[in-house]
Amino acid sequence: MCALKTSDPEIWGAIEHERSRQRDGLELIASENYTSAAVLEAAGTILTNKYAEGYPGRRYYGGCEHVDVIETLARDRACKLFGAEHANVQPHAGSQANMAVYLTVLKPGDTYLALNLAHGGHLTHGMSLNFSGQLYHAIHYGVRQSDHRIDFDQVVALAREHKPKLIVTGASAYPCEIDHGRFAEIAREVGALFMVDMAHYAGLVAAGLHNSPIPVADYVTSTSHKTLRGPRSGFILTREANAKAIDKTVFPGMQGGPLMHIVAAKAVCFHEALQPAFKDYARQIVANAKTLAETLVSGGIKLASGGTDNHLMLADVTAIGLTGKIAESSLDRAGITVNMNMIPFDQRKALDPSGIRIGTPALTTRGMKEAEMKRVGGWILQVLKAPGDEANLTRVRGEIREFCRNFPVPGI
Ligand SMILES: *Cc1c(COP(=O)(O)O)cnc(C)c1O
Repeated sequence: MCALKTSDPEIWGAIEHERSRQRDGLELIASENYTSAAVLEAAGTILTNKYAEGYPGRRYYGGCEHVDVIETLARDRACKLFGAEHANVQPHAGSQANMAVYLTVLKPGDTYLALNLAHGGHLTHGMSLNFSGQLYHAIHYGVRQSDHRIDFDQVVALAREHKPKLIVTGASAYPCEIDHGRFAEIAREVGALFMVDMAHYAGLVAAGLHNSPIPVADYVTSTSHKTLRGPRSGFILTREANAKAIDKTVFPGMQGGPLMHIVAAKAVCFHEALQPAFKDYARQIVANAKTLAETLVSGGIKLASGGTDNHLMLADVTAIGLTGKIAESSLDRAGITVNMNMIPFDQRKALDPSGIRIGTPALTTRGMKEAEMKRVGGWILQVLKAPGDEANLTRVRGEIREFCRNFPVPGI
């Protein structure tokens, strides 16, 4: 980074501060992770210089022989990793992957069914300000009040009533495993197409810990940067029969040239996820989440669905007299990063909701295990029980900085 330091000290300085923040604190944002040094290296290469509109062997620019090798490897590895027939690895992010599927199978005004944002869904699942809510008629199912699990009776009822063209599942803040097969049956019954957005739990699917959507879904979309631990990006998996249509939507339908440095980094990430060590990593993510959840529950914190069976949990902090916003900011001052989040049936608003979302993928990448999760849970409890006690926050922050030295971040 010598060139940057000299030519643009302001940007260089901010990056260095961010590097320290990532190294010295506890990263518990459920959608974040630390990529390997190899992924980071690929993302920072001269491939950013290359235009490659089109697909391998069918480009609109000369000089694509090397990036063709890269994109072909990325596609083949994605197919191998998930057992899919076709992969499009060009979407710039998860939102673009979702947009590509909607543009392929829906016309403006068409109805689709997806999980309510306030119950763990994503903006691109039909939020009113998002393209997915503006262009299409989104109907939402939710979770049951009794156990915070997807209400399949409601899914069936809404599907029969509205006859959606597409049924979508997948979530950003749902601590349970999703039964893809059950959704597929409902979609089949009402003649809907079925899309699974596995953005959050793709790493768990890759490792075989979460049931795979590939055999039952028409389209599977994902990010590569969450549990899958790759660069910030997206991709789409589908059957050979849908390949032409989805490729045409991504380019020229909605994107220009692919980010070839990021496509290369995705190829590296898929390769890493194909190694046996990735299964151990994914298993540890889940084991860590369970231990952290148990620690928080025994400290008096209420969790949506009572716990977790994946990489994240949703804590209702109103039970201990806080709001999500206060919890987020006090944890932040102690060196613990989480995000405030709506909990199912939240009485509060998105800008100051009742909960926080906590995830273990990033800390697991640093090599932390169950024993460390107990300590992390202990710190979270200490902060949440005295959120205004500045001396306490400073003390916890110091302890965490010291603790983090034993768990190096890859690439830093
Ligand atoms: C994160 C996420 C996305 C896409 O996010 P980007 O920020 O666009 O990469 C899509 N769907 C779900 C369910 C997500 O959690």
